[in-house]
Amino acid sequence: MRTARDVVVIGAGVIGASVAYELSKLGRQVTTVEKLTDVGAGSTSASSAVIRFHYSTFEGVAASWEAKFGWERWGDYLEAPSNELLARFHKTGCLILDGSTDRERTCALFDRVGVPWEAWDAKTIQRRIPGLNPAKHGPPVAVNDPAFWVGSDSDLTGYFTPDGGFVDDPQLAARNLIAAAKRRGCDVRLGEEVVEILQSGGRVSGVRLAGGDTVMAPVVINVTGPYSAKINALAGVLGDFGVRTRPLRQEVHSLTAPKDYGVGPLGPVIMDGDLGTYFRSHFQKQIIVGGTEPECDPMDWVEDPNTYNINPTQRVWEAQVYRLARRIPSLPVPRRPRGVGALYDVADDWIPIYDKTSLRGFYVAIGTSGNQFKNAPVVGYFMAALISACEAGHDHDADPVVATGRHTTHSIGLGHYSRLRQIHSESNFNVMG
Ligand SMILES: Cc1cc2nc3c(=O)[nH]c(=O)nc-3n(C[C@H](O)[C@H](O)[C@H](O)COP(=O)(O)OP(=O)(O)OC[C@H]3O[C@@H](n4cnc5c(N)ncnc54)[C@H](O)[C@@H]3O)c2cc1C
Repeated sequence: MRTARDVVVIGAGVIGASVAYELSKLGRQVTTVEKLTDVGAGSTSASSAVIRFHYSTFEGVAASWEAKFGWERWGDYLEAPSNELLARFHKTGCLILDGSTDRERTCALFDRVGVPWEAWDAKTIQRRIPGLNPAKHGPPVAVNDPAFWVGSDSDLTGYFTPDGGFVDDPQLAARNLIAAAKRRGCDVRLGEEVVEILQSGGRVSGVRLAGGDTVMAPVVINVTGPYSAKINALAGVLGDFGVRTRPLRQEVHSLTAPKDYGVGPLGPVIMDGDLGTYFRSHFQKQIIVGGTEPECDPMDWVEDPNTYNINPTQRVWEAQVYRLARRIPSLPVPRRPRGVGALYDVADDWIPIYDKTSLRGFYVAIGTSGNQFKNAPVVGYFMAALISACEAGHDHDADPVVATGRHTTHSIGLGHYSRLRQIHSESNFNVMG
């Protein structure tokens, strides 16, 4: 069967759903194609969904701060009916311990963007989060290195952003966005895989699905997460990319939280670059912990995103959980791993690529590098601005489009996310972006 639409979005993760919603709001006839049988069931479903603002660049900080207002007014943003079940943003605050980022640079960016923050010394850390031991151990070492167990003779400080937190159900957030897109006329095809990018006269003309159907459209957007490089290769557009993307396997583990972690039912998000982890509260008194790619740990790059281990492994479990237990000494450590294995779509500089390509009409929102869930309320808006300008004849490569934050009114130059860029040397080169 052959269908004709204005736009095809490939992928219904949280970012694809955001793009589909914003373009549908502009009145475009959008079809979203998703190879899984549910929305948000790819890497989005495994996301820790931390909302934080410490990025290495102005654009990174400004985009995440702008997105925060979208999470705060999620139902309004979606124009959701009052009876719709919505993902919720829990504002627990986020503490960034020494060793996580370049503190001076980040806090200068906070001041420029208007992100409130507080400096915390070791005493404040202990008073505000009684279960946390602020002892300095870093830089991180492997847990089977005898140096891991050596005691500490100094304490860490940190900085705290009261507006940080997490979204309690990342897959529901993607479903919410798709529901909003559908209300604006978006057609969603689940369980259908794009196998060919159709082209005619030097521009994209649609996609072919595995079952043989075609969806014809002058605009196609690759939002396939860890499959992004494969889809770019299908389209034949990789030639001018200065920055590439590839899948990286990660694990997030879950444990019972000790009683003295945090104040109240939910403790704050903690970024612990000193030991190489991040962690946050979860419901039913759980705590989840992930890694921040410390140099001592091997990186698990994946050739084929269709075949990777979705279960937690003993090695990564021990690395992340032992590190967490150093930071929270009262943590009960079960023997058996519990958690998930999932994929990041990592760009060479851990900063996403939101851009056009050399194939006219073919766009990408990829390379989200384990740090773009939080930006779902703005990425669709950025892509809609970029696509509208390019389709009206604007040369975004030569004169990058600038988006104005709907809440903050910050000007965010979308050239920051260009595929043609040199690697952003100021990046943290890990999940911090
Ligand atoms: C373990 C983990 C923890 C994370 N923690 C955080 C965090 O705390 N904070 C944060 O901001 N970000 C975090 N992230 C990152 C964030 O979750 C991702 O950036 C975001 O979910 C990416 O969404 P997406 O829509 O681009 O990709 P995905 O959710 O992967 O969606 C892409 C979709 O494309 C589909 N697809 C692929 N190929 C095809 C095809 N040929 N045809 C049709 N469909 C196709 C896939 O099935 C998939 O559903 C984390 C990610 C992971 C994996």
